[in-house]
Amino acid sequence: MAAPGEFEIIERYFTQSLPAQSVRVGIGDDAAIVSADGPLAIAVDMLVEGRHFPVGFAPDALGFRALAVNLSDLAAVGARPLWATLALSLPASDPAWLDAFAGGFFRLANQHGVALIGGDTTRGPLTVTVGIFGAAAATPLLRSGGRAGDRIFVSGTLGDASAALEHLATPPAQHSDEAAALCARFAWPQPRVALGQALIGVARAAIDISDGLVADLGHICRQSGVGAIVELDALPLSPALTALYPAGRAEAFALGGGDDYELCFTVPPAAADEVRRAAEALGIAVSDIGELTAAPGIRGRRDGRTEPLPAAGFTHF
Ligand code: ADP
Ligand code: MG
Repeated sequence: MAAPGEFEIIERYFTQSLPAQSVRVGIGDDAAIVSADGPLAIAVDMLVEGRHFPVGFAPDALGFRALAVNLSDLAAVGARPLWATLALSLPASDPAWLDAFAGGFFRLANQHGVALIGGDTTRGPLTVTVGIFGAAAATPLLRSGGRAGDRIFVSGTLGDASAALEHLATPPAQHSDEAAALCARFAWPQPRVALGQALIGVARAAIDISDGLVADLGHICRQSGVGAIVELDALPLSPALTALYPAGRAEAFALGGGDDYELCFTVPPAAADEVRRAAEALGIAVSDIGELTAAPGIRGRRDGRTEPLPAAGFTHF
């Protein structure tokens, strides 16, 4: 197939036939026109080749992941996703690549009822920027709502995606089952959209874990004016992570590694059971990993003794 030009790319790969009802004008005019009933949650995330994903990363996973990290931001505030925009900088117009990329993107978009309503396409270094818009609750989940005494919960397991970075350069055919499981966590993050919405009115503070537990829980602590104690033996670790790494390294991935896109949220102790029931109804594992404290700073605790934690976490500069 001949390399498609800019407008062919947009029409062939990114224009869906049926926009959502709330979309009056989608792709194809100078601006999209939508209507919303109430407050909107808006987020944007940029993925740069060689920075956020390795060179040669599978295009279907890239399309999926670019949307997933944005859906995760909406999950963290408990919003319901509605629309997305997609700005693509591509080194070349490669039909097979575009087909796979769009396939991964729309697989997740359709799963969450998200309509792609616009974007931009240009030649340049491979960079994918997705913007996402969702219906926000009247009382959204914020980083700033935590109070001393709150229990700290996380969804899923931690550390898998950052451990995967050690395996992504290896050809998949050479992966053990465990390495493949870790790489899948990196490639196909599952944004906790339904859980975020279920936590509205129950959780006091929330964030999605993109830069690592200590870093992201640190944002909740700073913005809530509290500290935290993390029960190190309660950190949820996957079987793949514990099979491939000794306990200390697995724990370091869980505390400092980013890219998991799980939710970290805090709840008053009396609501802990309600949270467990809500998560179970959604088929999502949640773990109580500690508590917010009046004393500032994040410390770990093992066998009743507290210890300082490495202030690791991903920062861009
Ligand atoms: P303009 O020059 O007016 O900004 P463009 O030619 O860039 O318009 O885009 C034409 C239409 O295609 C617009 O509706 C724009 O939102 C949409 N579009 C461009 N690139 C993408 C993309 N990668 N994904 C989705 N929609 C896109
Ligand atoms: Mg444009």
